[in-house]
Amino acid sequence: MPVNLLDFDAERFAAFLAERGEKPFRAKQLMRWIHHFGEASFEQMTDIAKVTREKLAREAVIAPPALMMEQVGDDGTRKWLLDVGTGNGVETVFIPEDERGTLCVSSQVGCALECTFCSTGRQGFNRNLTTAEIIGQLWWANKALGRDPKGDRIVSNVVMMGMGEPLANFDNVVAAMRLMLDDNAYGLSRRRVTLSTSGIVPAMDRLREACPVALAVSLHAPNDPLRDEIVPINKKYPLQELMAACLRYLEKAPRDFITFEYVMLDGVNDTMEHARQLVALVRDVPCKFNLIPFNPFPNSGYQRSKPDAIRRFRDHLIQAGYVVTVRRTRGDDIDAACGQLAGQVKDKTRRTLRLVEEGKAPVDSIQLSKRERTA
Ligand code: SAH
Ligand code: SF4
Repeated sequence: MPVNLLDFDAERFAAFLAERGEKPFRAKQLMRWIHHFGEASFEQMTDIAKVTREKLAREAVIAPPALMMEQVGDDGTRKWLLDVGTGNGVETVFIPEDERGTLCVSSQVGCALECTFCSTGRQGFNRNLTTAEIIGQLWWANKALGRDPKGDRIVSNVVMMGMGEPLANFDNVVAAMRLMLDDNAYGLSRRRVTLSTSGIVPAMDRLREACPVALAVSLHAPNDPLRDEIVPINKKYPLQELMAACLRYLEKAPRDFITFEYVMLDGVNDTMEHARQLVALVRDVPCKFNLIPFNPFPNSGYQRSKPDAIRRFRDHLIQAGYVVTVRRTRGDDIDAACGQLAGQVKDKTRRTLRLVEEGKAPVDSIQLSKRERTA
C-alpha cells in the first residue's frame, strides 16, 4: 500500500524523505505543493526533478477523501459530505462572517460519548478519522473557496467542532492541527484554531504540551448531577477536576481565557439558579461564555430554551462581569448547525438499537439515519 502524504505532518515528512536519501528542503517543497497550492498530482510539481517525482509516485499518493455532496445554505453557509469509506461519511461546514471565515472540522465518524442532546452522539461511533481525512476537510474547503481579492485564504479560522470528540482521537487530531499551523501548509495562528472538548481531562493536559491551541470546553451544566446526566463523561472527570484542568491549560494556551460552551435546553439547564451556580463554578477560571440555543433533531426529546430565558441567563453572566456570545444559528436550511451534523455513521456500538430497546428512540431510527430520512 502506498503511503498517503496527506497523513504526514512536517516531522513525518522529514523522516519519510530522510529514509529515502532526500534533502530536508524537499519536505517544505512537497508540503507547499500539497497544502498551500492544493495540488494532488506529482506531475504538476515542476520544480521537483522528474526522477524524484516518479519515485514519489511509485511509493506515495496524495489522497484526500472523496467529495460526495456539497450544499450551500441561504446565508452562505456551505456543507460538504466526504466519503471516508465503507459507507461512512463525515461533514464539514464553512461559516462565512464579516471579518472571518470559519471551517468546522470533524474528527471522528460518529462519537463514542453519549451527550444526550447531540445528534452525533445519538448516531453511535464507527472509528477515528485519519490525519488525511481530518486535514482533507481543510484541503477541500480551500480548494472550493479559494482566496479573496487580497490573496488571503477565505478560510481564516478552524474550529474542531464537527462530528466527534477530538481529544478521543488525539494523535491524528494533533498531527492535523500541526499542519493547520505550519507555515508551509496552512499557516494559521494558534489563536485561530480552536479545539472543542467535552472535557477529557488527561488529554487536555497532553494537548497543552503537544499542541496548545485555543480551547473551548463543552460545559452545558453547572453542577455534577445534571452534567452526569447530559454529558456522561462527567462521571469520569467531574466539574472540579475539569475546572482545575482548564486552569492548567491556560498556563500554555495561546489565548488567556477558556471558552465555555453552554447549550440552552428548555427547562433543563436554563434557569436563573443554573446561571448563579455557573458563575460560582467558574469563579477561578478566566473565561468567556458561548451560549448555544439547542438545535433540534428528530426525537431528541429536548426543546430550545425560550428567547426570554436565554436573555435572562445571558444578562446574569454579563452582570457577573463575563463576555457572553449567543451563537447565531447558521445553516439551518441545510442542517449544518451545531449538533445537527449527521453524516453517515455505520454504528459499531449498536447504540441506536439499545435506545430503541429502552424506549428512547423510535423503531424506524434503526434503519434510517437522519440524512436518509430527509433526502
Ligand atoms: N465533541 C466536542 C466537539 C463537537 S460538538 C464537544 O462536545 O465539545 C460542538 C459543540 O456543539 C459542543 O459544545 C456540543 O456540545 C454542541 N452541541 C451538540 N449538540 C448540539 C445541539 N443539538 N444543539 C446545540 N449545540 C449542540
Ligand atoms: Fe460527542 Fe461532542 Fe456530541 Fe458529546 S457533544 S456526543 S462529545 S460530539
